[in-house]
Amino acid sequence: MDRYRVKPGTVVRLKDWEPGDTSAYSGGKEQAPQELDRLRQSLVTLQETLWAEKRRSVLVILQAMDTGGKDGTISHVLTGLNPQGVYVQGFGVPSTEELEHDYLWRAHEHTPQRGKIGVFNRSYYEDVLVVRVHELVPKDVWSRRYDHINAFERLLSDEGTTVLKFFLNISKAEQKQRLEERLAQTDKRWKFNPDDLAERRLWDKYQEAYEVVLSRTSTEYAPWYIVPSDHKWYRNLVVSSALANTMQRMDLQVPKITFDPQKVRID
Ligand code: ADP
Repeated sequence: MDRYRVKPGTVVRLKDWEPGDTSAYSGGKEQAPQELDRLRQSLVTLQETLWAEKRRSVLVILQAMDTGGKDGTISHVLTGLNPQGVYVQGFGVPSTEELEHDYLWRAHEHTPQRGKIGVFNRSYYEDVLVVRVHELVPKDVWSRRYDHINAFERLLSDEGTTVLKFFLNISKAEQKQRLEERLAQTDKRWKFNPDDLAERRLWDKYQEAYEVVLSRTSTEYAPWYIVPSDHKWYRNLVVSSALANTMQRMDLQVPKITFDPQKVRID
């Protein structure tokens, strides 16, 4: 999945990242479910070892344009994991109390404790995305945040949290289709939010804001992956395999036993 990882220092132009790409998996949509199952199996084992080791944790950050598939990714990738060891935290419009603190305050308390996988459905990146696009704070305020975020993620990484970040990259045409589906299908209509149309009109501004995020905050210790997400099956494979590869590289170890099993007698 290395081809989708943004190397630190890369200047990202999203027009060079094809949302419909499926080139890293030759099996196609037909064989994708088996492959996803295989990846889930390894994630189950990795999660169990992370939990047993209880020394480190994993933070997965998901960002996307509306309809980008954050919810679908969470349910497909995390299905089957032990629910005791994984949780999802969403970040919506900040409350009054949250606005009375710095923008990282509300995130820090939800970072994963040792042994757990935490998933952020949206995150403090909103504070340089929606906040930047809508100028919710002045430029001199948001423009300093990229450095804060890098420093914050460095802190998490130094203290034992492996951070990995996924931008689910859909095309504008695919978004149109997904919005139309939401409107047309009665069981999906609840997901349709007329405000999404206003945001869609700001598509180019959001793309630009994402390009800056991806260019400035992909680091060795907290890399961004730009996930081709027009095809849901492919998006799920890319996210699961990047997560599984990252956790494999953590070289997780179950704790050494402090007793001699030969000498244990169970009456
Ligand atoms: P989702 O769209 O992820 O399913 P919601 O419908 O609850 O979830 O939307 C969350 C909304 O909160 C989004 O419109 C997002 O832009 C907004 N939001 C998140 N963080 C912030 C922030 N820091 N400042 C302003 N708006 C934010």
